[in-house]
Amino acid sequence: MNFCEGCNIACNDESCPKCGRKKLRAVRADDFCLAAQVHRMVGDNLKADLQSENIECVLRPYGTGVNSRFALPLESYLLYVRYQNLEYVRQILRDANF
Ligand SMILES: [Zn+2]
Repeated sequence: MNFCEGCNIACNDESCPKCGRKKLRAVRADDFCLAAQVHRMVGDNLKADLQSENIECVLRPYGTGVNSRFALPLESYLLYVRYQNLEYVRQILRDANF
């Protein structure tokens, strides 16, 4: 598995699917990787759940241009977790149908 340090994306490709960068390095277990884009409420709940299991996660506010322009609260988070937890967290999201 490769890792783009610019986007925090783990992928099987030779180049990053998001930015196209070709100088990817092998992913490490403690790299924070983009897991999903989640709604703000979902993100807050998920963070509490993960913390209770001692799984670290990072939520980065992510919104549409419209929201940003009018300075409204952002509706979404980008969720990052360590690579070692990535599959587990994705499974949680799949099971919960987020
Ligand atoms: Zn990238």
